[in-house]
Amino acid sequence: MPGDPLIDALRALLGDRLSTARAVREHHGKDSSFHAMEAPDAVAFAESTEEVSAIVKLCAEHGRPVIPFGTGTSLEGQIQATKGGICIDVSAMQQILELNESDLDCRVQAGVTRKALNTHLRDTGLFFPIDPGADASLGGMAATSASGTNAVRYGTMRDNVMGLTVVLADGRVIRTGGRARKSSAGYDLTRLFVGSEGTLGVITEVQLRLYGIPEAMTAAVCSFESLSGAVDTVILTIQSGIPVARIELLDEHQIDAVNRYAKLDLPVKPTLFFEFHGTESWAREQAEMVGEIAEGYGGSNFEWATKQEDRNRLWQARHNAWYANLALKPGAMGWATDVCVPISRLAECILETRKDIDESGVLAPIVGHVGDGNFHLTFVLDPNDPDDMKKAEGVNERMVMRALAMGGTCTGEHGVGSSKMKFLQAEHGESVSVMRQVKLALDPQNLMNPGKILTV
Ligand SMILES: Cc1cc2nc3c(=O)[nH]c(=O)nc-3n(C[C@H](O)[C@H](O)[C@H](O)COP(=O)(O)OP(=O)(O)OC[C@H]3O[C@@H](n4cnc5c(N)ncnc54)[C@H](O)[C@@H]3O)c2cc1C
Repeated sequence: MPGDPLIDALRALLGDRLSTARAVREHHGKDSSFHAMEAPDAVAFAESTEEVSAIVKLCAEHGRPVIPFGTGTSLEGQIQATKGGICIDVSAMQQILELNESDLDCRVQAGVTRKALNTHLRDTGLFFPIDPGADASLGGMAATSASGTNAVRYGTMRDNVMGLTVVLADGRVIRTGGRARKSSAGYDLTRLFVGSEGTLGVITEVQLRLYGIPEAMTAAVCSFESLSGAVDTVILTIQSGIPVARIELLDEHQIDAVNRYAKLDLPVKPTLFFEFHGTESWAREQAEMVGEIAEGYGGSNFEWATKQEDRNRLWQARHNAWYANLALKPGAMGWATDVCVPISRLAECILETRKDIDESGVLAPIVGHVGDGNFHLTFVLDPNDPDDMKKAEGVNERMVMRALAMGGTCTGEHGVGSSKMKFLQAEHGESVSVMRQVKLALDPQNLMNPGKILTV
């Protein structure tokens, strides 16, 4: 872009770590879901907090948007450059800055991915549990308040981020939170930035809680005659206080997709996948208790997998659900959407949603982190069929409104992005105006990832 003073200034700062190549810009303007690509004007590959601060200051001087980027695995239109601007890719910020084994915490640069952190921790007996399936960056996971399969035991990013280093919209660098396990000192800025999707600042460092790797892990799988039997099993398991580490629901459409993709032969019925952590006897005891509950709700073939390779095979199949769904219709595009409801309303919400999907004739397997009351639909859509898209939009909207009416939320973990902005008012009412005030106080020019979460 000749004659663009911001690009010239950024090039002087970063050299060839500033790219205006079309392919690079397009890659950074598209998430992992169906949302249209909207490319930024340039991509800046930052390597330090100081560099991010310098880039943001230049963007502020020139009044140009900033879109932070981790690994681009988000699903709700979070990284589209709706108003152009500069994408700051932090994926080269790969340092593990501190590891405090006795205190079970660490500090990492924002570009470290969850798998890279766990590889680094391998010999310490510690691990970082939050697992959104994709190998996302820890900065991106903090920014979307990600969770995943084992949030039922270990919580979400909100529970596991202890502090952050953030570059604000004017280039100032702040550190929030700290290493103390609790604090009553002032406003909780850490939790303000967790889930802010790049709209308030660029996260450059993340302080995280770690956990000891459990002595034993046992996985189990159990199929049910009815979806309600499976969901009632989940509810009673949680209400009984059994500390399951993972409890995932796959409806019969999802099982069919997974069987085909992973060459498994699971009964094509609503199915729960479990994982139990603890000592050998405690993990076994938990599995036995859940097995009894499942039996009471029509569960059959409760099968255990204690060997690591069997466990891995099972969970890999679960993690590949997205790709298994896309493989159902060659050339299809996927649209993943999630809601979360109080657990007592989960069965009702899933059953009504399933009925709606079947009546509308759209293809959408259901999978859920049901221990948290969270479930997902993956619409498998024909990109050349506008009717398919329209039907999916209808099902999505009705599902969100159903979840809100049940005291739930329009998204349990994927975030708002551009795609769920329209539901924020219905969920939060007047609180949205306070969110807007916070946004404007921190970003008066509306330059930080504009067009996401709320309109300004
Ligand atoms: C197959 C598949 C399965 C998934 N399953 C789950 C799941 O189970 N649970 C779940 O929670 N998510 C899931 N996701 C969604 C996704 O992995 C998460 O949203 C993840 O947290 C995004 O991280 P990222 O590094 O890819 O962020 P990106 O996609 O790069 O960015 C996401 C948002 O965060 C902002 N951002 C990124 N980095 C920073 C930063 N350093 N500072 C400030 N803002 C930043 C961006 O501007 C954007 O708004 C899944 C995705 C896929 C493809």
